Amino acid sequence: MILARLSRAVRTQNWFAVVLEFFVVVAGVLVAFLVTEWRMSVAAGLEETRILERLHADIEHVTNDRWDWAADRANNRDLLLSASALLYADEAGELSRAECNAIAQSHVFNSPSLALPILTELESTGEMDLIRNDGIRRAMSQHFLSEGWSEEIDRAINHEVLNLSARHPHLMHFAFPGDAGNWNPIFDGSARCDTAAMREDRPFLNELADNISKSTFFLRAVMDGPNRSFRALHQAVDNELGVSHGEATE
Ligand SMILES: [Zn+2]
Repeated sequence: MILARLSRAVRTQNWFAVVLEFFVVVAGVLVAFLVTEWRMSVAAGLEETRILERLHADIEHVTNDRWDWAADRANNRDLLLSASALLYADEAGELSRAECNAIAQSHVFNSPSLALPILTELESTGEMDLIRNDGIRRAMSQHFLSEGWSEEIDRAINHEVLNLSARHPHLMHFAFPGDAGNWNPIFDGSARCDTAAMREDRPFLNELADNISKSTFFLRAVMDGPNRSFRALHQAVDNELGVSHGEATE
């Protein structure tokens, strides 16, 4: 209809009508385009909110095991360092039970996962751009970098496992408990150490030094780095969704 009027105006050389009809056509196209844009933007916003709610649910599914284990490993490293003062520096005294048990588990470098299934899903379908919030995208990038570095270090430190109680049985043994129902010898305080013999055993001391160095990288790169970036990502998602957890935010 508009085009018919426009061509009639051209035929009759009614230039005012031509210009007017032309602008009506352009304005119509522009309005239709803006409405489509607006609808797409609203739809993308709703989709982003739905994804962020799933991301937040995934974040909350990471259990306290992860944070408890990080604290436990930090404590184990402190015990290894205090044991080192006795074993490497000619300091008098015997290893405590706790220090001996820290040595028994000094080769254990695993960790509960920080995996977020929604991000894996978006990455595999190439839809990561559905998350548009700048703060969250920055936090995600930082977390991916931390996780990448963590995996690298994790592979390196677990490439060769030095289980000292198995490799140096003349220096350590495990006391069998009265109630053996829940015996967990590496972790439950059953290890016993011969401090004097350990001080004289160079291969043992060198392998313990290896495990102590690995514990430094484990704590920094596998535990603390990803834990920090994970918490920053959680905070960014909380900010966008307006969620508050009070003091106990993880
Ligand atoms: Zn939250």
